[in-house]
Amino acid sequence: MTFRLTCPVCGKRDIYEFTFGGQERGPRPEQEGLSAEEHFRWVQFRMIPGGMGAGEDAGPRAGGPGQLQHEWWYHGQGCGVWFRTTRDPATNREVKDGSGEG
Ligand SMILES: [Zn+2]
Repeated sequence: MTFRLTCPVCGKRDIYEFTFGGQERGPRPEQEGLSAEEHFRWVQFRMIPGGMGAGEDAGPRAGGPGQLQHEWWYHGQGCGVWFRTTRDPATNREVKDGSGEG
């Protein structure tokens, strides 16, 4: 399976140039009073597609078509920039403000 992502610096590039950085899970939790387990769970959310540990309602297959994912990607084989994109996991296509792109 292959698809392309749009780097904000380089433009459209093959997926193999990128490293998946995990789903957007919001801001880093406060360090103050954060338990090791809570921190671990937050890290896992970011590292594993689908968010292992998110509970039964948030598995990789939780959403059908149209259930968009906000994800972080790293252009390691290119400019080295981290960026966030919105993707439809059913089609592997990026989605931008309601307009399909392919
Ligand atoms: Zn780039």
